[in-house]
Amino acid sequence: MAESLVLIEHDRQQVKRSSLHAITLAQQLGGEYELLVIGHVVNKISSSLVSLGATSVIVADDPALAEPLADRYATVIAEAVRKSGAKNILGTSSTFSKDILPRVAALLDAPMVTDVVAIEQMDGSISYRRPINAGSMFAKVKVEGERRVLTEDKETFERLVGGLADALGGAIGATHAAVDAGMAPNDYQIGQTGKVVAPELYIALGISGAIQHLAGIKDSRIIVAINKDPDAPICQTATYFLVGDLYQIVPQLIESIRRA
Ligand SMILES: Cc1cc2nc3c(=O)[nH]c(=O)nc-3n(C[C@H](O)[C@H](O)[C@H](O)COP(=O)(O)OP(=O)(O)OC[C@H]3O[C@@H](n4cnc5c(N)ncnc54)[C@H](O)[C@@H]3O)c2cc1C
Repeated sequence: MAESLVLIEHDRQQVKRSSLHAITLAQQLGGEYELLVIGHVVNKISSSLVSLGATSVIVADDPALAEPLADRYATVIAEAVRKSGAKNILGTSSTFSKDILPRVAALLDAPMVTDVVAIEQMDGSISYRRPINAGSMFAKVKVEGERRVLTEDKETFERLVGGLADALGGAIGATHAAVDAGMAPNDYQIGQTGKVVAPELYIALGISGAIQHLAGIKDSRIIVAINKDPDAPICQTATYFLVGDLYQIVPQLIESIRRA
């Protein structure tokens, strides 16, 4: 019997990156885990998941599931959980999950904890660390019952992007992709369908440089881009372009700024 079941988010072509973090959460919780893919004509998605360590990939493929209708999806997920016996039902903190997973929790009569950033031990049992008060504080949440619904993990965005903004006294923005993945709220979005900004310094962390995003930042005086891909289109626009992994560079940058 699997300990956890992870709801996979996808755009019919590929798995959304944020789902990989939900899988990491399943691994941290321990035990076996299963992945659930819902949609129509999702064989490409399901075959891309087989190497991710799950005991099985459950596929619910039906024309009626082509669009992510919350009530329909919630019924499918609750049924899959009952069959698998999973105790943890995991998803990302995206709008997709926020629409569907509370319904799953209601169908299973299970508690739900959103935006889990860490799993900790408290008084001999598991607690879930999550931000409160717009991220200015953290709470440790314990839940009771046989099953629970959990979403993760804005932690990386808040630690790296928020940490750098704090160190510089700056503000945070995000791409459409980051908002879509649930890493940042909608009103952070910069670009054609978001806000237009023109700061003295704009730091683009892991941003490809899509034209729709550039529309919102092109009047910035200095653009520094950090990207692991030396051919990322943003190198054409950036004043300074650093090739490297942001997970390594940004903590060093924060540390240097704090020391200066
Ligand atoms: C009509 C329309 C309107 C749109 N409006 C907007 C808008 O307003 N704003 C907006 O932002 N987008 C908008 N988009 C979406 C836009 O086309 C892009 O899809 C989006 O900007 C891409 O976001 P991204 O750069 O974060 O993600 P991706 O394109 O996925 O790029 C991620 C980048 O991160 C780099 N990277 C990954 N991991 C690391 C690492 N560890 N270290 C360093 N670099 C790393 C990769 O090399 C890549 O270059 C719109 C699209 C359409 C069609």
